[in-house]
Amino acid sequence: MAILVTGAAGYIGSHTCVELLCGGYDIVAIDNFSNSSQTALDMVERITGKKMRFYPGDIRDKDILNRIFTENEIDAVIHFAGLKAVGESCEIPLEYYDNNVYGSIVLCKAMLQHNCKRLVFSSSATVYGENNPSPLREDMPVGAATNPYGSSKYIIELILTDLFNCDNSFGICLLRYFNPIGAHESGLIGEDPNGIPNNLMPRITQTAIGRLPYLPIRGTDYDTHDGTGVRDYIHVADLAKGHIKAVEKLANSTGVFTYNLGTGTGYSVYDLVRAFEKASGLKIPCKKEPRRPGDIAVCYSDPSKAFKELGWKAEKNLDDMCADSFRWQKNNPNGYRK
Ligand code: NAD
Ligand code: UDP
Repeated sequence: MAILVTGAAGYIGSHTCVELLCGGYDIVAIDNFSNSSQTALDMVERITGKKMRFYPGDIRDKDILNRIFTENEIDAVIHFAGLKAVGESCEIPLEYYDNNVYGSIVLCKAMLQHNCKRLVFSSSATVYGENNPSPLREDMPVGAATNPYGSSKYIIELILTDLFNCDNSFGICLLRYFNPIGAHESGLIGEDPNGIPNNLMPRITQTAIGRLPYLPIRGTDYDTHDGTGVRDYIHVADLAKGHIKAVEKLANSTGVFTYNLGTGTGYSVYDLVRAFEKASGLKIPCKKEPRRPGDIAVCYSDPSKAFKELGWKAEKNLDDMCADSFRWQKNNPNGYRK
């Protein structure tokens, strides 16, 4: 019995593969490397000393999925594969719906055909939109996403819920991630965005090593303790462990289960910069800039449902996140590109 991991070479996928292999699971992986590199998979095997079975390919290709399910006994699927850049999703929305929504449909059809009915899906806090107050709870209204990326996640949540409604033997976990940062403590795998990073932590780490000249502080007039945006940063290794708990839950339950994966604590941009400076011993040059369009002031989770039902909670603190992000970037200034 094995777990199929889609998008296994990506940032969260690679860290989850480490946790799965360390937990004794066999992995079958698929990735089309549209936003990742073979090196990440090699490093996962180096960290764990274990092998996984890898299929290079696209989840929208039903033939390769058919091959995977025919050649392996897949017990459950963890589905990371997708496009994730909010800004880009506004420029090429059809690509986002095609990759994320259509890709998930092709995957679910293959699962149905091969009678595999356990699925853990990477959703996002972005499904809560801008109208709910933090701390965000799973029972709050969702769907008013502000961009095609967020809408694609919401649509997939709906599709998966409908799938369960017509076939109650499915077990599905919808995991709503908050802001994953950090890296494996070995410094061998980490986040490696294409081009100039849009997200805060890779922007900080690339500024720290001199790849970028300064950190733009995008909005200093929010209604928060220091005027900058507040988010719920969570260590990617903690997030990865949440997937193991979700797989364990689905081993003996059917239904659709939705969980926030966050720490429950919000930190501002300046809080993160200060923590990073402490962890790295470096000064980050900052420049105040206008708000980023579409941003909300505050977003953090109530993670108590995941603790109650999965026995999961984040263990690592902001200092760990900063130290691990810095180690990864310092050891790999160009990410996976040498
Ligand atoms: P990532 O881009 O690093 O990983 C996604 C992986 O999927 C990449 O390796 C990419 O090559 C692969 N992929 C994309 N489309 C594919 C396709 N059609 N077929 C096969 N492989 C494909 O992103 P990540 O940060 O690891 O995110 C993983 C998942 O979590 C995504 O679905 C993302 O939307 C979701 N998510 C991420 C965050 C975040 O801040 N990183 C937050 C919330 C949700
Ligand atoms: N941010 C910033 N400068 C940057 C990138 C982000 O000030 O170069 C701010 C952003 O406005 C938000 C916070 O950092 O308040 C987190 O942004 P990120 O894109 O990492 O996460 P998201 O907003 O998608 O939750």
